[in-house]
Amino acid sequence: MLWFTEYYSGEGMELQGTGLTFKVTEAFSFRTPFQEVLVLNTVDFGKMLVLDGAVQTTERDEFIYHEMIVHPAFFTMNSSPEKVLIIGGGDGGTVREALKHGVKQIDMVEIDREVVEVAKKEFPSIANKLEDERVNLIFDDGREFVKGKENEYDAIIVDCSDPIGPSKVLYEEEFYRDCLKALKENGVFVTQSESPFAQRKVHKQVVNELRKVFEVVRPYLAFIPTYPSGMWSFTFASNSLDPLGVNPGALGEAYGKFVKENGKLKYYNPEIHYGAFAIPNFVYEEE
Ligand code: SAM
Repeated sequence: MLWFTEYYSGEGMELQGTGLTFKVTEAFSFRTPFQEVLVLNTVDFGKMLVLDGAVQTTERDEFIYHEMIVHPAFFTMNSSPEKVLIIGGGDGGTVREALKHGVKQIDMVEIDREVVEVAKKEFPSIANKLEDERVNLIFDDGREFVKGKENEYDAIIVDCSDPIGPSKVLYEEEFYRDCLKALKENGVFVTQSESPFAQRKVHKQVVNELRKVFEVVRPYLAFIPTYPSGMWSFTFASNSLDPLGVNPGALGEAYGKFVKENGKLKYYNPEIHYGAFAIPNFVYEEE
């Protein structure tokens, strides 16, 4: 029997003597020009995608991350976003959730074509919408792609890995400024923003950099068992819309309609919509 351990280390990681171990029945790995890809079959979490030693997604808990990176922002918008930009997101889960909102076009800019290929082959339940005709797959660096774009997207979602290697540039103020320019007037921005427990400084940096650029910046939480410490965050940003300003009656109605059309979600609901924005005191305390 094999075991795989993600040892917590690397830039931004504040836990240096901790890891999380999974019992594994099968494994294969290969190198791409950008990263080491490892695909595991785990006993408890089903298939698992690991990039450069860090767990990215598993069949069993992916719904939490993918629902929470999309739905709080999209249910904050007054109408379905028509044109969406996803940066990263190679496993396809973010595209799958975004398409549930009647989106007309998604540009997904993923730096590593081989992540998309392995996701389509090994993770069909996550990647099954990547072939949808509304999805435009672009294999490029998201940082470069967004430069010079103006007034083009209703929503931008940054579904990137940790701030090591090619993802590092997706955590900087200049990148957020370019995203703001690329957004339409009432556009919304969301990024995954690391673990407020295990990568607290990086989390705070994302929130602070976003505050230099956007009027409304709202970090929020979800519980993700296979990520460091289990406590995970995303950050919403916009110049006009606020997830906490959404009328509860209107949200209940929109959610009910959404569920009728798409079937039940497994994590996000109207109570989570407001509750996820409650942040424990320690996160923003001084050192
Ligand atoms: N759910 C994940 C997490 O938080 O661990 C992220 C998943 S997704 C697989 C991350 C993707 O971002 C990877 O496939 C990686 O290739 C891609 N990526 C990293 N840097 C990028 C960049 N600069 N431009 C576009 N995609 C990038």
